[in-house]
Amino acid sequence: MRVLEPTCVFSPASVTDILITLNKLEDTPCKFAVRSGGQGPFAGSSNIQDGVLIDLVSINEITFSADRNSLVLGSGQIWNVVYATLDKQDLVVIGTHTGDVSVSGSLLGGAMSSQSNLHGWGCDNVLSHEIVSLRGGGGNFGIVTRFTVKTYRQDLIWGGGIVFEMAQLATLIDGIVNFTNQGVLDPKAHMALAFVYYKGPYKDWKPFMEYVEPIINPPIFHNFTSLPSVTNTMKIDIFGNNSAASVANDVWGLQETFWTFTYRNDPVLPHLIWVQCQDGVNAFLTVHQVAGFTVACIFAPMSIPMIQQGLKNGGNAMGISAETPLMLFLFQLTWNDAADEEVVLNLAQSLIAQTNDTAHSMDINYPYIHLNHAATQQNPPWGYGEGNLEKLRVTSAKYDPKVSSEI
Ligand SMILES: Cc1cc2nc3c(=O)[nH]c(=O)nc-3n(C[C@H](O)[C@H](O)[C@H](O)COP(=O)(O)OP(=O)(O)OC[C@H]3O[C@@H](n4cnc5c(N)ncnc54)[C@H](O)[C@@H]3O)c2cc1C
Repeated sequence: MRVLEPTCVFSPASVTDILITLNKLEDTPCKFAVRSGGQGPFAGSSNIQDGVLIDLVSINEITFSADRNSLVLGSGQIWNVVYATLDKQDLVVIGTHTGDVSVSGSLLGGAMSSQSNLHGWGCDNVLSHEIVSLRGGGGNFGIVTRFTVKTYRQDLIWGGGIVFEMAQLATLIDGIVNFTNQGVLDPKAHMALAFVYYKGPYKDWKPFMEYVEPIINPPIFHNFTSLPSVTNTMKIDIFGNNSAASVANDVWGLQETFWTFTYRNDPVLPHLIWVQCQDGVNAFLTVHQVAGFTVACIFAPMSIPMIQQGLKNGGNAMGISAETPLMLFLFQLTWNDAADEEVVLNLAQSLIAQTNDTAHSMDINYPYIHLNHAATQQNPPWGYGEGNLEKLRVTSAKYDPKVSSEI
């Protein structure tokens, strides 16, 4: 995205540092932004032009409770480091599937994990937040400095990715639809399916799969594992290695945008989405030449067990309570040159509008918009439901009155 240049970058080493900084900033017209892992996928998400960037990279503690049933995580810590630390103790916490995302940015937006069918979203497993409240800052509510999260026992897992030829397209789409419906049969299984374009036509399909026990090729994955593949990295491993590997395989440019919407799992819509995306990208490329252009269309299931886990601790703040399985559709584009931003964003916005309109016309759109993968033009809180929205407004008005209108 656009390259923003803050006037200064400050890395607090303690909560006291943050308090002092915010007190000083409140007395000035100086704007500021907060960054943890820096993976927020739009300009201004976690950076600022001509202001102060508060970088939480040094707030990175990992401290076990005496009984090891919970863990305190500094907000700037990265999941790869957390998982590697916990693997040594045969424990796990619920963060993001991919490991190079930070604790706080992801947990504040939900955090979908390969353990979510068993234990819910990352945010459902936060026991407490330590927050320095803002009065007039760039985000809502405040800066979270520490999260206390639940730990779970963790054995080895079976996981990795398989690459298929495009010829398997229809079978793979049908497979992810069935997998999503069957989540209730085996909540230890997790997967997402991506079709990926780079340097040429849509090239291949990549399901990322994980079974959170050391069982090779459990039946729920047979629709995929029985197909001929191009490459296959599925293996028994420690949990953290699989999260780290899912990042290592990515080939991405410098600029990035994410867009998303949610629909009720359906056998027809993903085929239509695929056609609309393929046609849209092909038409775009007849007009524009964009260096480093990549597209990933990702289907991420929200099976019934995951939705139910989210409800068990008194309800889900994100308003997800469907009786039927859901599917997150994620549209991710990357490119090299900031000068191409406008045309790429226009493409993304128009394809998301088109595919979402199709879901609406089939009456299977679901209002939830996953904050962690939403573009700045989307408004995730609208999908949380009026009750949850009102709670957020009240909290924002109390702790962050100058920007409460953002919700
Ligand atoms: C390669 C990749 C893989 C991903 N995989 C997953 C996945 O498996 N599951 C999933 O759920 N999501 C995933 N995501 C999405 C990711 O969770 C979001 O992009 C998330 O916002 C990134 O958090 P961050 O801290 O790294 O980014 P940042 O850009 O640092 O932060 C994101 C936002 O949160 C705010 N923020 C950060 N820290 C704080 C704080 N302590 N207090 C207040 N506000 C704060 C920032 O100001 C910014 O607005 C992935 C993203 C990428 C790029």
